[in-house]
Amino acid sequence: MDLKALIREIPDFPKPGILFKDITTLLQNPEGLRYTIDLLAEKCADLAPDYVVGMESRGFIVGTPLAYKMGIGFVPVRKPGKLPAPVHQVEYELEYGTDCLEMHKDAFKSGCRILIVDDLIATGGTAGATAKLIQNIGCQLVGCAFVIELKDLNGRQRLPDVPIVTLVEY
Ligand code: AMP
Repeated sequence: MDLKALIREIPDFPKPGILFKDITTLLQNPEGLRYTIDLLAEKCADLAPDYVVGMESRGFIVGTPLAYKMGIGFVPVRKPGKLPAPVHQVEYELEYGTDCLEMHKDAFKSGCRILIVDDLIATGGTAGATAKLIQNIGCQLVGCAFVIELKDLNGRQRLPDVPIVTLVEY
């Protein structure tokens, strides 16, 4: 299936110079949504994760059905102040700004095998920060999966020695 045909490009969003890859057009397409989740699950099966960790907010949209399909649990990594129980916190850089992410302190036992999932990897700042969060608590990062990779931004450099699964490259 041609996933690129289902991903809409919006110039200058959310600010001038950014070509935004809009996956809402992919998500609303039944065959496109099913194919995306099924293919991610197939490509990530050998990584044998115990949990999917998805970053707010499009990591929730892709990560939760992927966890369901793989028969494992989903843990959200959220923007500050959203999670109700005590959290670990990490600062990170975006392609368009800086922010902070939080995860519940009691989300994992140490040694768990974690798969990080988001819709897109650009500079790798978000995924790299989440990787640190996971490794700091003694969990094993077994892979990262993204629907879209923006190759020119070299996001992979922030995820050294981690298997990376992507479906579409620009
Ligand atoms: P980064 O931390 O630079 O890898 O950026 C990844 C995060 O920012 C992901 O959660 C994406 O959803 C979002 N993002 C960054 N650049 C874009 C883009 N060009 N189009 C859509 N989303 C983007």
